[in-house]
Amino acid sequence: MTDRPGKIVCVGRNYSEHAKELGNDVPKEPLLFLKPPSSVVWEGEAIVLPAQSKQVEFEGEIGIVIGARLSHVDAASARGAIRGVCALNDVTARDLQKSDGQWTRAKGFDTFCAIGPESPAPADLGTLVVLTRVNGVERQHGAASDMVFSIPELLSYISGIMTLEPGDVVATGTPAGVGKLVAGDVVEVEIPGFSKVRNPVTNTV
Ligand code: ZN
Repeated sequence: MTDRPGKIVCVGRNYSEHAKELGNDVPKEPLLFLKPPSSVVWEGEAIVLPAQSKQVEFEGEIGIVIGARLSHVDAASARGAIRGVCALNDVTARDLQKSDGQWTRAKGFDTFCAIGPESPAPADLGTLVVLTRVNGVERQHGAASDMVFSIPELLSYISGIMTLEPGDVVATGTPAGVGKLVAGDVVEVEIPGFSKVRNPVTNTV
């Protein structure tokens, strides 16, 4: 994948340990938000800390790349339409997320969505693992098998709201361990065996 996705649909609080660490309950239905395509950066490109935030955090996630048009489909059909998986960093201005209520600004800055190379998905999505390292130190370690809503369930749910189209990316939520990024850091999200995205962090110039 080298073209920007048409849309990036993200899922909040899909791992109970992460919901807990931010003082939230696990939602009864998937909690959705969008990141703009303009937020995408690829392997090696800088994540730029915006002047408006004092608390920019990493969120390592399993990204799912859609391979077919999906509208009002069940989980089994959604599973069949997955084209690939990619490491994804849902970079978040945590202070603005709290103060704004709406998440568009906190999640939508330029460079706030790092996406790694796409690989074909494994037969068993439950085997996927996601790791985040900052300056080589592991900070997050999550498994798809620990998700509140499974990947096919998420895609089915989203497809009942908005049509998913080929090339769209779904970010499936972050496990516990989120933390602050500062200029000079190098942050890496890896789905071992499938995808990795590594990005330096810089201040606005
Ligand atoms: Zn996220």
